[in-house]
Amino acid sequence: MAARYWNEAVETMGRPDIEALQLSLLRQAVGRALTTPFYGPRLEAAGISGPSDIRSLADLRRIPFTTKDDLRQAFPFGMLAAERREVVRMHASSGTTGVPTVIYLTAADVERWTDYVARSLVATGADSSDVLQNMMTYGLFTGGLGLHYGAERVGMMVIPAGPGNTARQLKLMKDFGTTTVHATPSFMLHLHSKMAEEGYGLGDLRLKRAFCGAEPYSEDARRKIEALFGIEVFNSYGLSEMNGPGVAFECERRDGMHLWEDGYILEIVDRDSFEPVPDGERGEIVLTILCREAMPLLRYRTKDLSAVCPEPCPCGRTHRRIARITGRTDDMLIINGINVFPSQIEEVIMAMPEVGNNYLILVQKEGALDRLTVKVEVGPSSFADDSRPLNALRDRIRSRLQASISLNPRVELHEPGVLPVSEGKAKRVVDERPKL
Ligand code: ADP
Ligand code: ZN
Repeated sequence: MAARYWNEAVETMGRPDIEALQLSLLRQAVGRALTTPFYGPRLEAAGISGPSDIRSLADLRRIPFTTKDDLRQAFPFGMLAAERREVVRMHASSGTTGVPTVIYLTAADVERWTDYVARSLVATGADSSDVLQNMMTYGLFTGGLGLHYGAERVGMMVIPAGPGNTARQLKLMKDFGTTTVHATPSFMLHLHSKMAEEGYGLGDLRLKRAFCGAEPYSEDARRKIEALFGIEVFNSYGLSEMNGPGVAFECERRDGMHLWEDGYILEIVDRDSFEPVPDGERGEIVLTILCREAMPLLRYRTKDLSAVCPEPCPCGRTHRRIARITGRTDDMLIINGINVFPSQIEEVIMAMPEVGNNYLILVQKEGALDRLTVKVEVGPSSFADDSRPLNALRDRIRSRLQASISLNPRVELHEPGVLPVSEGKAKRVVDERPKL
């Protein structure tokens, strides 16, 4: 296969060169981290007081892991390693406690991120003749702006459509000859289910490929989307803590995602012992971002489960591939691409005195999209003859939930004692979605 590269020298670097580069960048990252209120004391305590204490890549393991909780504790500026005036962008993702996790970027950081995305897109065969419709959310989420910048860098014509509104998406696709889309896999399936109804057929579209990510999906779901649209679907992995999209991306082989090792150090660790697992074995992805000036993040535990693909990729890229993400080690739900922790929902509900003790979170498929229903028990006095106060309460719960989790759930109110009570650990979440 004729491989096309964005930056051939970097993408085909030999393993010893990658490792030498990683070591020198890791030292710089540790040096920057030491200047921050969060990492300074923590690294000192681990016996690392300067870049020279990192003598080999093996010394990475002397650095303690960083978790999402650490990010919350460091909110808002505890991990900032640049002057405030040097920061040109921030992004945030939702948090369990209402404290979001924030990421800062300098102009050079945005530049590098853009480069990772650009090379990812070129690896799929995309080029400046393509029209990219970005159906991910713009705003604090990274899937909008992050991918947008990279696609512009490649010279693609970018339609910043944002998510939702199938009729408008299809019209844009038809009017502008969209060849490539970026969307969640569930939105792709939803889009297809609405096509006929909206008066469009495949003949109206010029779609060739889709970049799908932000939520787990199976190989079968990929094949289904490919068959329905007659396109190629490329798996895309990223998380805001590591900038966003462009961490790992499938090349034209569509067989595992190249993780850009000049930008990130990949570790896969056993989900219980946190010891490294051999290539090919599943474990939790741990990532260190090597070059972010504004905000270093060392050995970040992603909670995502994957494995290293042990074989070299025939495309010629030397950066190791990771297999499809099969799930997470925590209870985070991904609903239409948006991260939700059950504790966020609990916090809203429990803060309302009218609400009883029992509640249930139900996640289902409605068509191709996810549907969130929150069932809540309310005090007996609420069920009077007049239903107006109940309706008002339902609306209030819904709008508070919406403000907290950026999703509009269905809210059901129940009389006390109606929802199931489990013995032992309460089972608050029922996820009835078939595995995509
Ligand atoms: P996003 O806005 O893309 O969801 P977040 O940082 O809010 O970014 O969420 C990142 C999380 O989304 C990851 O840790 C992972 O759990 C999930 N995710 C992202 N891409 C994929 C993918 N290709 N397959 C499975 N899960 C993914
Ligand atoms: Zn490849």
